[in-house]
Amino acid sequence: MEKNRKKLGLTTRIFIALILGAIFGVILYYLVPKGTFRDDILINGVFYVLGDGFLRLMQMLVVPLVFCSLICGSAAIGDTKTLGKVGVKTIAFYMATTALAITVALSVGKLINPGIGLDIASVQQAETTVAEATSFADTILNIIPKNPIQGLAEGNMLQIIVFALIVGILIAKMGERADLLLKGFTQFNDLMMEMTVLVMKVAPVGVFCLISKNFANIGFDAFFPMLKYMFSVFLALGVQCFVVYMTFLKIGTGLNPVKFIKKFLPVMGFAFSTATSNATIPMSIDTLDKKMGVSKKISSFTIPLGATINMDGTAIMQGVAVVFVAQAFGITLTPMDYLTVIATATLASIGTAGVPGVGLITLSMVFASVGLPVEGIALIMGIDRILDMTRTAVNITGDAVCTTIVAYQNKDVDVDVFNSKEEKEVEMDTLVC
Ligand code: ASP
Repeated sequence: MEKNRKKLGLTTRIFIALILGAIFGVILYYLVPKGTFRDDILINGVFYVLGDGFLRLMQMLVVPLVFCSLICGSAAIGDTKTLGKVGVKTIAFYMATTALAITVALSVGKLINPGIGLDIASVQQAETTVAEATSFADTILNIIPKNPIQGLAEGNMLQIIVFALIVGILIAKMGERADLLLKGFTQFNDLMMEMTVLVMKVAPVGVFCLISKNFANIGFDAFFPMLKYMFSVFLALGVQCFVVYMTFLKIGTGLNPVKFIKKFLPVMGFAFSTATSNATIPMSIDTLDKKMGVSKKISSFTIPLGATINMDGTAIMQGVAVVFVAQAFGITLTPMDYLTVIATATLASIGTAGVPGVGLITLSMVFASVGLPVEGIALIMGIDRILDMTRTAVNITGDAVCTTIVAYQNKDVDVDVFNSKEEKEVEMDTLVC
């Protein structure tokens, strides 16, 4: 018995928790009658407290971890030239993959025609929220924190990145004069990584509760009229994740894509269960570092940046939604409209925060750009949660693939670790023993 327990790694346990959680959630929805036991004690009691408790523990790590690891990373790289190169490459990659993602989505949409023949009356509609557009100039200005402490307190990722980068670069420049400070940040960063390992110990329980709660609240009956739309989104997400990214990885690094997916799966599972890219940052950095040999020097910068501005999965949902709603409302879009969608959805992806459901809010910007009715969002809102979970997994995979490519080209990937068969399970396996 003890032997068997030792063999079960954290990866496996997270997946068992995910599948069991989904099954249990569906059972709750269909077989357990509504009432105090199901709703108050289980779903909104035990699952809510344990699931969201775990999520909050992960969120608790994000700001201090990003701040310290980015200072250490940029101080380690030191020269602004290399940092600039890494930055430009990363942003170019993020923009290009997002534009490609929308193109994949529009093509899949045109192929499957999810909105043709839809009976709008049969779809459960929800109330829509419209995004308030911030001007482009303000978006750029907002990157500079007026008050870095406020930026940290509000978890404003771009402001934190800017401030931490400047601090790191100057620490490197000051050399010995800032030795103590660098040592302090390095030690605090190590502490945060230790804390990540500690929090991950309860991941299977947290994932089980989050998934059970989600699935117990998802009305599967609402799926039926929307199956074509959902299938189109899933298909486009699959193409982006397993074809586009893996081709980029193979061409950009020569590394084995199957190995990459295998080692990164637990992070995708975690993103799926929480539907938040932000909360996934510590686990992504840790997994890339310990299982794939990708230096934190690079990932501490590219992962938080990606979780903030690179949302390929979200862009895919938005692309398919455009085709779906245009067809459902009988609106014809011109080739120029499609180009506008590619441009606005790329911008919307930058403006989408890595938390649940925001992609649906920024979708109103995309709809407005080509004159689609905002009421169209109400059609897809009811079934969006499951798509949100799936696209978040793709969002963070895009960040990790880009990070691996940029790090590899910067000679910051330990290929032996990447190729190692035995998964170094982030010291996590020790917990089972
Ligand atoms: N939930 C997504 C994320 O965190 C954002 C979205 O598409 O709503 O990446």
